[in-house]
Amino acid sequence: MSTPFLWHNGHIKPWTEATVHVSTHALHYGSSVFEGERVYATPQGPAYFRLADHTRRLFESAKVYEIEIGYSEEAINAACLELIRVNRMKSAYVRPIVFRGAGGLGVLQKNGAPVDVAIMALDWGAYLGEAAERGADVCVSSWQRPAPNTVPSWAKAGGNYLNSQLIGLEARRGGYDEGIALGHNGLLSEGAGENVFVVKRGKLLTPPASAGILAGITRETVMMLAADLGIPVEERELPREALYSADEVFMTGTAAEITPVRSVDRKPVGAGKPGPITQTLRQAFFGLFDGRTDDRHGWLTPVHTA
Ligand code: PMP
Repeated sequence: MSTPFLWHNGHIKPWTEATVHVSTHALHYGSSVFEGERVYATPQGPAYFRLADHTRRLFESAKVYEIEIGYSEEAINAACLELIRVNRMKSAYVRPIVFRGAGGLGVLQKNGAPVDVAIMALDWGAYLGEAAERGADVCVSSWQRPAPNTVPSWAKAGGNYLNSQLIGLEARRGGYDEGIALGHNGLLSEGAGENVFVVKRGKLLTPPASAGILAGITRETVMMLAADLGIPVEERELPREALYSADEVFMTGTAAEITPVRSVDRKPVGAGKPGPITQTLRQAFFGLFDGRTDDRHGWLTPVHTA
C-alpha cells in the first residue's frame, strides 16, 4: 500500500519514518481533519482534480475545530504536487491529514500544543471495487447520521468516521457493498463515504447540504456537469422510499467516483443495472481525465513531472 515517500511537517520523508507517539491527541479523541483527493493520468501527464477546493475544505474543517495548520493553503498545494513528483506516480489517491499531536491527554490541549500535518499518496483503484461497473448493492443502515447540532458534517474530521464505520460494518455483515444512512429527521442523508443521487423522470435529486452530509466535491462536480449537459438537478429533502421508486441511484465521492447503485435493500433499482443518466454522467466525469470532456471549469492542476 505504501509509496516510497510522504510529506510530514514540512519535509519529504521515507514512508517508514513518519511515526507518531501513542499519546497523540487525535488517537484518543478523533481530533484530525483530512482530505481525500485524486490524481488522474491524463494525456498531458498526471493532474490533480480540484486540488485547491480540497485544500480549502481542509482549512475550513480545521477552522471549525480551531486547529492551527501552520502552513498556507499554497504551501499544502505545493506539497501535494511535490509528493507525486518524488514518488514518480502517474495517478494516485492523496490523503492530507492535520491532527492534534502529542501534547497531553486532556480533551482540551494547552495553547501551542503540537499539530502534525502529513500528506500520503497511495496507489488506489476503484473504492467499491467491481461495484463501480456492475452497480453496487446497498442497504439503508439502521444507524443514522449525527444530528447537525452534534458533530458538524461539513467538517471532514476523523471522529465523523466512527459513524461511517458502523454503517459500513453493518452493510458488509449483511452482504452489501455499502450502506446509506438517514439523517436525524428520518430523511435521506448519505452513504458511509459517499453522497447519494436519485434519478427520477430525467431529473437528478440529491439531499440538500443541510441533510447531515459532507458537502462533497464530487457531488458539486456532478451537479455542474449535469448543468453543462442540460440535465435538471434539484437539491431537496428525500424520504427513504425515493430510493425504492427511483429510475436510477448513484453515489459520488473522491474514492467512489460515480458508482451506480443497482439495488437497495435487495430491491432492484430501475432495470437493476446502471442507468443511462448515470452512464452519461460517468462518461462526462471520466472524460475530464482522458480529454473527451473539456475542462471548462479549470478543475485540473498538472503535476509537471518533467
Ligand atoms: N460523504 C462522506 C461521509 C465522505 O466521506 C465523502 C468522501 N470524502 C463524501 C461524502 C464525498 O465527498 P467528496 O466528493 O468530496 O470526496
